[in-house]
Amino acid sequence: MVMLDFEDSVKLLNEYRIPHSKLHFVKSKAEAVHVGKKLGFPLVMKIISPKIVHKSDVGAVRVGVNSASSVEETYDRFSKRFPKEPIVVQKMARGLQIIVGAKQDPQFGPTVVFGIGGIFVEIIKDFSLRVAPLTRKDALEMVHGIKAERMLEGVRGKNPVNINKLVDILLKVSKMMVEHQEIKELDLNPIFANDKEALVVDVRIMI
Ligand code: ADP
Ligand code: MG
Repeated sequence: MVMLDFEDSVKLLNEYRIPHSKLHFVKSKAEAVHVGKKLGFPLVMKIISPKIVHKSDVGAVRVGVNSASSVEETYDRFSKRFPKEPIVVQKMARGLQIIVGAKQDPQFGPTVVFGIGGIFVEIIKDFSLRVAPLTRKDALEMVHGIKAERMLEGVRGKNPVNINKLVDILLKVSKMMVEHQEIKELDLNPIFANDKEALVVDVRIMI
């Protein structure tokens, strides 16, 4: 299995109209600051490279970049630690972190999972799973089928997340997996879900 490159992964997301947060590739510190100011703080900076599959494991993600000087500092740190690897600037998303994943099961064909996402996903392990193609009813049941379902309703003063936007992503991923069986695994992790939108901020597709 190999990781599909960044351009082709974004192409697939666009083909299925899956909303995702734009990655701005920057070639110098000055450009990073310029783009950062245009996007507005706080920001996230990352290294996007075919050599790095799990970015946060190797220190290739910095969230909450709050000022021009921390953009510069992060740019310096990244270019020292990951020489010549592409550096990106991204808006910092807000909301509940969700994962939508999929894989080709040797027995059942394409399967789709839904769960609480983020970097602790392997520890939390709160998923629901269905075989594709999904109906809207399946997708809705998946969303309501996780243990942490109440988190979607908004806890401690948070607004409920827009369930329809999550259902849409599940249906689009299901369609993609059925139509592109060369995709062995797909991870949209995390998707930031809030009352208005559900936005993919990281995609990993294995072929
Ligand atoms: P990887 O999964 O390769 O380690 P991610 O791009 O998913 O890299 O980043 C790791 C973590 O950083 C995410 O799980 C999320 O918690 C946080 N993160 C990444 N991008 C953003 C973003 N645009 N807005 C807010 N948080 C982010
Ligand atoms: Mg991720």
